[in-house]
Amino acid sequence: MNYRGILFDIDGVLHVGGKVVDGASAILADLSSRGVPFRCISNTTRSSRSTIAERLATLGFTIPAEHIFTPAVAAGSYLISSGAVRCMLLTTRDVQKDFVNQGVEIVERNPEAVIVGDAGDLFTYSSLNAAFRALLSGAVLVALERDRYWMDEDGFSLSAGPFVAGLEYASGVRAHIVGKPSKEFFDAALFSLDCSSSEVLMVGDDINTDIGGAQAAGLDAALVRTGKYREDVFRESRIDPDYIIPSIAHLHEILDEDGGFSK
Ligand SMILES: [Mg+2]
Repeated sequence: MNYRGILFDIDGVLHVGGKVVDGASAILADLSSRGVPFRCISNTTRSSRSTIAERLATLGFTIPAEHIFTPAVAAGSYLISSGAVRCMLLTTRDVQKDFVNQGVEIVERNPEAVIVGDAGDLFTYSSLNAAFRALLSGAVLVALERDRYWMDEDGFSLSAGPFVAGLEYASGVRAHIVGKPSKEFFDAALFSLDCSSSEVLMVGDDINTDIGGAQAAGLDAALVRTGKYREDVFRESRIDPDYIIPSIAHLHEILDEDGGFSK
């Protein structure tokens, strides 16, 4: 199958906990030589896009920061367009840069919006309770993602989803989700590629947000069996990927017209 562009998830696809997936660099180099543009679309909410680009560079991937789409970038656009510029952020400090760069004002009191990303150790009773109180006072809740967990170097780790769900449960306020699987998020990356959804393949390790989300947005999707991939989660999802490959190193099997991909 020939696609005009490719979207890659980062964690679990290009690298797993900082260890490059075998063959990933060669595949990206091959795409570049074929003239197939690609973008990275990650639900990572711990790092700014510039920090992600720097980290990828240390792993041997040359990807410009503006080709990396994160929920923080999408949320900044959403907040500015909806007029909620005073925001309380439950995110890492690094990711705050993506908000400040877009004109969002970070406040500790009386916010118009509460933004929740994967704040790691900054999720404390105190920070979550402050967010809960802001929601009770009328702030809107914006979730950078609601993934349940991710694969860190030392094992599966809680993502933002459980904390978003907890705040929703306590406050009765439903979160607006800006990361995968939101269609808006995929559309922003497609716009950058100047491609329509039917022309682009999404490659990811999360059956729900990467594969289910991409297919709902009109893209074909390839599931890789690296990173957070788990057979039981895949079976339970009842989502049918367009392709299933052992890792990104097998992408050429999909892209070559005579390739023996499995479906
Ligand atoms: Mg992933």
